[in-house]
Amino acid sequence: MSDSFRAELRQWLEANLPPSTRGSLPEQEIPWGGRHPEYPNPDTKLWLERMVARGFTAPTWAKQYGGAELSPEQDRILKEELQRLQARPALFSFGLWMLGPVLLEYGTDSQKAEFLPPIARGEIRWCQGYSEPGAGSDLASLSTFAEDCGDHWKVNGQKVWTSYADKADWIFCLVRTDKDAPKHKGISFLLIDMNSPGISTRPIKLISGNSPFCETFFDDVKVPKNQLVGKVNEGWEIAKKLLQYERQNVSAAAFGGDNSFPLHQVARLSEGHDQGPIVDPIKRVAVAKGEMREQALSYLVARANREMGAGRISALTSVVKVAAAEINQQRQELAVSLLGMDGLGWSGEQFDSRALKETRAWLRSKGNSIEGGTSEVNLNIIARHILRLPQEP
Ligand SMILES: Cc1cc2nc3c(=O)[nH]c(=O)nc-3n(C[C@H](O)[C@H](O)[C@H](O)COP(=O)(O)OP(=O)(O)OC[C@H]3O[C@@H](n4cnc5c(N)ncnc54)[C@H](O)[C@@H]3O)c2cc1C
Repeated sequence: MSDSFRAELRQWLEANLPPSTRGSLPEQEIPWGGRHPEYPNPDTKLWLERMVARGFTAPTWAKQYGGAELSPEQDRILKEELQRLQARPALFSFGLWMLGPVLLEYGTDSQKAEFLPPIARGEIRWCQGYSEPGAGSDLASLSTFAEDCGDHWKVNGQKVWTSYADKADWIFCLVRTDKDAPKHKGISFLLIDMNSPGISTRPIKLISGNSPFCETFFDDVKVPKNQLVGKVNEGWEIAKKLLQYERQNVSAAAFGGDNSFPLHQVARLSEGHDQGPIVDPIKRVAVAKGEMREQALSYLVARANREMGAGRISALTSVVKVAAAEINQQRQELAVSLLGMDGLGWSGEQFDSRALKETRAWLRSKGNSIEGGTSEVNLNIIARHILRLPQEP
C-alpha cells in the first residue's frame, strides 16, 4: 500500500515539480501567499497551485478544509519524497504551521470552514500577536484588553516583536478579557483582520539589517464576537498548544538541520575551490562534527514529526526547539569562523555573495534561542513536564 502510494507520488512529483523550484530558496522568493502575494519566479506560483490542487500544502487535514487526508505514514512519505527532490516548500505560512492545527482542535465548525481552506490555499497571511512590552517569557502577564461590548469586542493595547505584522492580513492574538481573574484565567484567543480600523504597525530594525518584525498597536479595534476561538477566558490552553506547534514546525523548518548551503561548501568556499576534499584538516574535523550534529537534529525532528503526525503534540517540541537553536547557532559560528575575514563582510563587491549571506545568517541566528520561547523557558518546560523535576521552593 505505502509502496504504491510512494510510486504514484514520485511520478506526480517528477511531472509537477518545476525545476526552478528545487534547491535552496532565496529569501525574496519565499512563498508567503496572502492577499497580495509576490512571486518573482512564476514557477513558485505554479508549484503552489499544483500542491494546493492535491491538498498537499496541508496533507493531513480533511479534504473539506483543503487537505489531502493523508495518514501519518503517507505524510512521512510525502516529506521524504519532497526532500529527495530538494523541492522548495510550496507555502510558508504561520496559518499552516500554528493557527490551523489549533483551529482544528478548538475552532467552531463555521470558523474551520471560514479560515482553514484559505490557509491551505495560501490566501491569508497570518501573524502572531503574543508578546507585549511587559509580557515575553511571562506571557500570561499580557495586558492588551478586549472589552465586551455586547455584539463585539473592543481591543486596546500593544504587541511587540510581531513578525511580519506589516505584511500580514490577519493576526491571531492573545487578549485579556478579565482583569480580576488570576492571570492565566483571564486570557482569550482572538482572530483579528489587520485591515480593521484602529490597527497600526511600526517595523523594528534587526541587527541583520532586516526589519521582519513590528510593534503592533490596537486603538479601539472592533472585533466581531464570532472571531473568538474557544471559550472566553480559556485562551491560555490554546495559546500553549499553539506554542508547541510553533516550536515544532517553525523552529525545525526554519533552522533545523536543513541549511541550504552545507558547511562543507562553506569550507570549500573559504579555501577557494568548489569540489573535492577540504584541504585543512582542522576545518575538515570541525565540518564533520557540525554536519553530524545537523544530521542528528534531523532525526530528532523526524521523531517529533512522527509524534505530531500521529496526533500527539507534547513537550518534546521544547527539546526540538532548544536543540535546533543551539545547533544552528553553533553552525553559524563555525561558518563565519571558517570564512575568516570574509565572514565579517556586510556588503560590497570584494565579498562573495554566499559569504555575505553567511554573515547575515550568523547575526540572525542570535534570535534562535529567543523566538518561540527562550531556551531557558523551554529548559524549564523540559525539567517540569519531561524530567518531572521538583519545582523550586
Ligand atoms: C526573531 C524573533 C521573532 C519573534 N516573533 C514573534 C512573533 O511573531 N510574535 C510574538 O508575539 N512574539 C515574537 N517574538 C518574541 C519572543 O516570543 C519573545 O522575545 C520571547 O518570548 C522572550 O520574551 P522577552 O523578549 O520579553 O524576554 P524576557 O522574557 O524579558 O527574557 C529576558 C531573559 O530572561 C530569561 N528568563 C525570563 N524568565 C525566565 C525564567 N522563568 N527562568 C529562566 N530564565 C528566564 C529569558 O530566557 C531571557 O534570557 C519574536 C522574537 C524573536 C527574537
